[in-house]
Amino acid sequence: MIGRLFGYVSQRVPSLLYRVSLMMKPQVVFVLGGPGAGKGTQCCKIVESYNYTHLSAGDLLREERAREGSEFGQLIANYIKEGKIVPVEITINLLKKAMEETMQKDEKKFRFLIDGFPRNEDNLQGWNTVMDGKADVKFVLFFDCGNEVCINRCLERGKSSGRSDDNRESLEKRIQTYLQSTRPIIELYEKHGKVRTVDASRSVDEVFADVKAVLDKEG
Ligand code: UDP
Ligand code: MG
Repeated sequence: MIGRLFGYVSQRVPSLLYRVSLMMKPQVVFVLGGPGAGKGTQCCKIVESYNYTHLSAGDLLREERAREGSEFGQLIANYIKEGKIVPVEITINLLKKAMEETMQKDEKKFRFLIDGFPRNEDNLQGWNTVMDGKADVKFVLFFDCGNEVCINRCLERGKSSGRSDDNRESLEKRIQTYLQSTRPIIELYEKHGKVRTVDASRSVDEVFADVKAVLDKEG
């Protein structure tokens, strides 16, 4: 009797734990596109209507750059100004910490938009090494936008953003980095059927209508 009961319990308990661990696993959408494609703008709109937490890798790096006592401040500043991609060890720790803090505060907040990451092979490898099995990447939301439009939007933003990289010189480097390093990552996900592309050259509301269609379909 006790043996049977024990067998029953030991069969049930792991499956319950397993279900709980599945529930808690972060569900991630990577949001990619050129500088100024509208990733940040659209993520803010998504958060208003859907149960997602927006984590911008660029914003996290800028915060770390500004944090008093950060050992990486100067390095991050140099990389951002040059439009280069910060070594993933720094970025992945910031992302992981932000995800953990969000879920510790509210366990129901396990859906994340990770904006502006992974941007190159190094980023992707770092993600796979640190997050493998710990998070599910549902798909890549790709904001497709021509370089001209991207540059003009960033120059416009540069008038008020105060960003050290919203000037023509940095922008040209950022576009180069995007074309050389980020596009291949998007293509890689494309091969696995994991990219949802939205034409991002239109108005905010038109783009968001398409974004909604993607999210409503994907759940
Ligand atoms: N950056 C980085 N790794 C990341 C995200 C951003 O090194 O994972 C740096 C990179 O130098 C980039 C800059 O931060 O050019 C600005 O990124 P952000 O995503 O804020 O720019 P956006 O694409 O939104 O204009
Ligand atoms: Mg952004």
